[in-house]
Amino acid sequence: MGYNIAIDGPAGAGKSTIAKRVAKELSFIYVDTGAMYRAMAIYLLDQKVDAEDSSAIEKTCTGADISIRYENGEQVVLLNGENVNSRLRDEAVGEMASVTSANAAVRAHLLDLQRNLAAQYDVVMDGRDIGTTILPDADIKIYLTASVDVRAERRFKELQEKGLSPVFEEIRADIIERDERDMNREVSPLRQAPDAVLVDSSDLTIEEVTKVITDMVRR
Ligand code: C5P
Repeated sequence: MGYNIAIDGPAGAGKSTIAKRVAKELSFIYVDTGAMYRAMAIYLLDQKVDAEDSSAIEKTCTGADISIRYENGEQVVLLNGENVNSRLRDEAVGEMASVTSANAAVRAHLLDLQRNLAAQYDVVMDGRDIGTTILPDADIKIYLTASVDVRAERRFKELQEKGLSPVFEEIRADIIERDERDMNREVSPLRQAPDAVLVDSSDLTIEEVTKVITDMVRR
């Protein structure tokens, strides 16, 4: 069993930025589970499955063979053998993943992949249900959050830096909607595990949050 650090929290809390930093400092592997749900969303979109059709999602999702490879420290997601990294951050893919990740069959299909990585390697794994469902015995559990306004502001800047012209109110509404879906779904809703440490990154720098976590490991 590897040493496992689980980081859960809502969209835009800074999980991937922090998890990558922590992994680098500790020479652990960073596992982005959101990317697995996004790869599944790509498959379902390509198969023309309707996001609202849960029985079609159930039947179709088993055809997606999703695996992870590491190239120069970067996580590469393979969908039926094909590298889909360039499509993972598409808006339509994020939207589809937010809806289809609520499906129990989708979650069951991705469970072993996540657990096997954690069993094999020292990992920093981020997601929504890592500390509660995937790795209930993780060595360290963090619930990383930030206020809706701070998360919307971060996403707004990120999109602006990509040369897009985002509308702040739309982004804010989208974050609230995604929180609502993640926190209120029946299967593996986003929750703080009872033994997780709550870190609110609203007023903390990336370095400060990273230090909180690495200090816990070194203690
Ligand atoms: O974190 P990211 O935005 O990449 O995740 C994509 C979608 O996958 C999210 O909207 C979330 O609903 C879902 N997800 C999940 N469980 C995880 C990771 C992501 O349900 N462990």
